[in-house]
Amino acid sequence: MQDIITGFNSLIEAVKNIKELYDMNNYVEVKKGLANLELDLAEMKSRLAEQINENTKLKSKIRKLQAVKSEEMVFKNNVYYDGDGGGPYCTACYDGKHKKIRLVDNPLDPEFWGDKMCPVCEEIYKTK
Ligand SMILES: [Zn+2]
Repeated sequence: MQDIITGFNSLIEAVKNIKELYDMNNYVEVKKGLANLELDLAEMKSRLAEQINENTKLKSKIRKLQAVKSEEMVFKNNVYYDGDGGGPYCTACYDGKHKKIRLVDNPLDPEFWGDKMCPVCEEIYKTK
């Protein structure tokens, strides 16, 4: 990226030089300067296209890594949480059927039985 910024700076400098040559009525040098400028612009266009291509690949890679992280389950306080911090999820449902079932508050004496329960398999968990 720094390479491209440096390239644009030299293009701006080349335009300034051509403008000075034009002001001095040095049309032969203006024509040479414009020919060089055209080549340099083509080179910059190519470098920019490479950079855009690389950016697209990196964005795709980031999206894949985020998806993997989101699927990653972390076991903590007897339950699972996903990579995005979602959860808690039922360990019985995830380990047995690979389903992410979000636990709900246990309405039955949470102090004795546990504070969370699975709405699918009704497993009760103490997460605190
Ligand atoms: Zn369950």
